[in-house]
Amino acid sequence: MLNRIFKYQFATATHTPLCIIGGGTASLNVTAQLSHRKGINLSHIRVFDPSRFHYYQPSWTMVGGGLYDAEKSYRTQQSLFNKKINFNFNAVTKVIPEQNKFITDDGREWTYDHLIISTGIKVDFKGIKGLKEALDDPNCPVGSIYWKDYATKFNQFAKEFKGGKAVFTEPQMPIKCGGAPQKVLYLNEERFRRNGVRNQTSIEFHKTIPVVFGVPKYSASLAEIIKQKNIDLHLKSKLVEVRGQDRVAVFENQDNKVLTEVKFDLLHAVPPQTAPKFIAESGLGDASGFVDVDKQTLLHKKYKNVWAIGDSSNLPTSKTAAAVMSQTPILVDNLLHIWKQKNSEASLPQKYEGYTSCPIFTGDKKLILAEFKYDSVVDETFYRHQDKPHRLFYHLKKDFFPFAYWNLMARGIWYGREGILPHFLKTITNTF
Ligand SMILES: Cc1cc2nc3c(=O)[nH]c(=O)nc-3n(C[C@H](O)[C@H](O)[C@H](O)COP(=O)(O)OP(=O)(O)OC[C@H]3O[C@@H](n4cnc5c(N)ncnc54)[C@H](O)[C@@H]3O)c2cc1C
Repeated sequence: MLNRIFKYQFATATHTPLCIIGGGTASLNVTAQLSHRKGINLSHIRVFDPSRFHYYQPSWTMVGGGLYDAEKSYRTQQSLFNKKINFNFNAVTKVIPEQNKFITDDGREWTYDHLIISTGIKVDFKGIKGLKEALDDPNCPVGSIYWKDYATKFNQFAKEFKGGKAVFTEPQMPIKCGGAPQKVLYLNEERFRRNGVRNQTSIEFHKTIPVVFGVPKYSASLAEIIKQKNIDLHLKSKLVEVRGQDRVAVFENQDNKVLTEVKFDLLHAVPPQTAPKFIAESGLGDASGFVDVDKQTLLHKKYKNVWAIGDSSNLPTSKTAAAVMSQTPILVDNLLHIWKQKNSEASLPQKYEGYTSCPIFTGDKKLILAEFKYDSVVDETFYRHQDKPHRLFYHLKKDFFPFAYWNLMARGIWYGREGILPHFLKTITNTF
């Protein structure tokens, strides 16, 4: 009898009006903002994520630079998501959008009226031969800020570094936070100076792409910084293999495919990153594999009840939490417009212009605050030259942003660079 009930439960799809795949930055921000909206029954929302923990990933750069404790970079999902929202600790393996249905890794089926995809970008440590083995070897001086434990490992080796060759790498785009591989480089160049080992150290920076940064204004400033810091820059140089035991990194020249071996004493490696596979397998992706949405409305180009936000979308902007903060109110307004107010796509009220931001530590308690939108058009918030390193920006990134993330964003009252004002205005005009 019990067996029959069990089987029946598993054979029937569970319906939830709004399903969200992924419980990272975008999902938390969207659900927190929805919780303030009028007429939203939070039990009509269901989030899926196999991870028990939620990570504030931007802090991992600071972990690798010796400025932040990795233990402060994560919290349990339960402590952050509203208790009234259903949370399933499962990965979604396939979506069948024609049937408004998807399947989770335990074989269960789920149906929805609206679906939001926010599964981020997949960090592929195995995408470079030998890298994962070198990272997992506690005695090998190889680390990466693209995972908390590898960031901690890198920090430890960098702290104890006595000089030699320090090599930093950056893969092909897209990656999350395109500036992060440089931030960790500059923070550690400063650390080597502070620790008195800079004169005994040569630093190489290998970038796969042919420019220092994607936005010309900031690229020029950063190129100058690289020169001043006497860093040996290699453009179009892609890390293809790490031989941890021999302390050798192999690079491929992107023009002529010639391989060069570089002996290192310390290696910071950034792995290639790709769209989660289930997106393409569900027919929801574009040629790149990311969810194919309208770049202004965030609504899927084919399925008019599927949305995407953040790193798993194909929005042609840099993949950052700052971009997510800017996308969230747009997605929430547009979603409610169709879902609750039963309006058509033609009259969607909000348009995303591609805003994103990359706070680049340049060492010596300074930071360049790069802000731009679609087509790499500079879109700065402050009345000063943001391509020049400044102390104020350093404290924004190091001290204020982590506070804003855990205390304001997670509560749905943070609107990115617009701060908490829109929330306050909506509250007093009762427009939630
Ligand atoms: C080292 C580093 C430095 C960074 N620095 C900055 C910075 O300075 N400024 C900035 O703005 N941003 C920065 N970022 C980028 C920022 O963290 C991301 O852009 C942001 O987290 C994207 O949010 P998201 O919700 O799209 O993805 P994520 O926050 O990555 O969340 C995705 C979630 O989806 C889940 N998931 C994956 N697959 C499935 C599946 N099949 N089913 C269910 N769940 C799934 C994952 O477990 C994860 O919890 C940095 C990131 C890194 C790694």
